[in-house]
Amino acid sequence: MTELELIVDFHKDAHRQGPGSEDETLKALELTGLAQKEDLKIADIGCGTGSHTIVLAENTNAQIVGVDLFPKFLDKLDDKAKELGLHDRITTLATSMENLPFDNDEFDIIWSEGAIYNMGFETGVKNWRKYLKAGGYLCISEVTWITDSRPKGLEDFWREEYPEIDKASSKINFLENNSFTLAGYFYLKQDSWIENYYGPMEEQFSTFLKRHNNSEKAKAVVKEYRTEIEDYQKYKDYYSYGFYIARKNR
Ligand code: SAH
Repeated sequence: MTELELIVDFHKDAHRQGPGSEDETLKALELTGLAQKEDLKIADIGCGTGSHTIVLAENTNAQIVGVDLFPKFLDKLDDKAKELGLHDRITTLATSMENLPFDNDEFDIIWSEGAIYNMGFETGVKNWRKYLKAGGYLCISEVTWITDSRPKGLEDFWREEYPEIDKASSKINFLENNSFTLAGYFYLKQDSWIENYYGPMEEQFSTFLKRHNNSEKAKAVVKEYRTEIEDYQKYKDYYSYGFYIARKNR
């Protein structure tokens, strides 16, 4: 298996592939004011195995398309949707977020939790805007500085990893300069990282290593995640995912 295949294999059995929670998904949905709308259409981009896709389906009557690059994640979402009797409202599409086959003005909501960084927040917001109806909402969680200053080492790390990390005010400014009006902002609580994401990840390390006969590549994947978790523990007061809920202007 390649490193990428190992990463997909590691994450495919998890409830979520990034930080977040049902409460925070519902909070963002509430801020759109669209939950009760008839004929609601939602695109959930970079949905992974779709923990939040299911929450959206259970709390609206929407038709939802879950998009992800990896069919193995989408298969899990399809299975869950079937189990819960939601498969008539959730469809999945294996394609890149950079090349979406949607029509202009197709969706009421474009949802994306912890995924837009794969193409970059600014490119994503600009490219996806056209798929939203006027008055539609973008609901995006994105890594964000939550203090006004931070240790230099941390800043250097993120500049390498994802130079678009910024304060919420800068992200909001970008949204406003691209014909969106902010309807709400909050940032994910630490439990959404630790209890909902890193904790379950840590529980998977030993079975994952066994499944891959302790291969060097599998060990490298685990080592990288252990470092990520340690860094989060050390620096969790400085960054989180900000959740941006923004309405498309006419
Ligand atoms: N939203 C999910 C998954 C977040 S992890 C959750 O919160 O649990 C980021 C997701 O983006 C992964 O599922 C990954 O497969 C997907 N992804 C990465 N690059 C992508 C791309 N170019 N196009 C579509 N999805 C992509």
